[in-house]
Amino acid sequence: MAAQILSGKEISDAIKREVAAEVADLSEVHRFSPCLAVVRVGEDPASAVYVGSKVRTADEMGIISEHLHFSADTSEEKIIEIVESLNGRNDVDGILVQLPLPNHINERNILERIDPEKDVDGFNPINAGLLAQGYPALAPCTPAGVIEILKRSNIQIAGRHAVIVGRSNIVGKPMAMLLLKENATVTICHSRTADLASITKQADILVAAIGRAGFIRDEHIGDGATVIDVGINNFSEIEAVDDLFPVEQAEKRVAAIKNRGATLVGDVNPKEAMARAGHFTPVPGGVGLLTVAMLMKNTVQAARQRRLQ
Ligand code: NDP
Repeated sequence: MAAQILSGKEISDAIKREVAAEVADLSEVHRFSPCLAVVRVGEDPASAVYVGSKVRTADEMGIISEHLHFSADTSEEKIIEIVESLNGRNDVDGILVQLPLPNHINERNILERIDPEKDVDGFNPINAGLLAQGYPALAPCTPAGVIEILKRSNIQIAGRHAVIVGRSNIVGKPMAMLLLKENATVTICHSRTADLASITKQADILVAAIGRAGFIRDEHIGDGATVIDVGINNFSEIEAVDDLFPVEQAEKRVAAIKNRGATLVGDVNPKEAMARAGHFTPVPGGVGLLTVAMLMKNTVQAARQRRLQ
């Protein structure tokens, strides 16, 4: 039987509705609107698209947004100065510095300067530490979105074996901490893991955050597992489309490659996951949609914690 698709669209729409209602309530009862400041450095086209979507969504929710854009040659000192000034502004609730930054800027130096109370991406080591110790924290948006997908789809987490492939600070590690907090038994795999498939096949919940198109295949997936595909990759090999996509998607994917030069694919082979898994998040239309919704949720959470508690 084909896997049941877990739609990111319905879940992210529900979260956005809840956030908009909360923002309206803050405005009516407490007389303020949360404010999100987004800092972008350079001309990376993907970053421009992501920031555009974040600012647009904030506007739709009634969250005030500020988009601060600087040229690629802006110094690290200048960006630190900007972050410090946003830290000091009482009207700013959330600060996000869009990654990647140009090579001459050390990302860590910047992320460490963001006030942990305003760190809506959850990348500051203070928030990572709080999360690791199981305390309330602003959690990174993508893994937090995965938890929302699982919970709102009534997929049991407690007591189940969750295997994560990938150990980045942005996805893999916080994903592990969040699943642990939900009482899963957690295994983290990475590029040095021996016999990956023998481990991933044991997963009740398999999260792929690798950055390699279609890497997780039939051999990695246990029968009926819930497969969460975090990956976002551009894929342009027309001759491999039939190996990767279910037959009903192939034509559309080929057209996308011909028209736009690429189609989006996750870190999981969707054709094989659909045949083997119990539940599966599509790319596009899965986890990616949750990231922005969770950013809005974190912004409201940061505003509440800082202004009302
Ligand atoms: P990173 O490159 O930072 O990390 C990739 C991880 O995958 C590393 O831990 C690496 O292991 C592991 N890995 C690489 N090759 C293998 C292999 N052959 N076998 C096992 N593990 C391997 O990527 P990110 O965590 O930032 O992103 C992962 C994916 O998620 C990407 O596709 C990215 O585009 C996507 N993404 C999606 C988001 C969304 O909104 N949906 C947000 C952020 C990311 P090692 O540590 O040993 O090198």
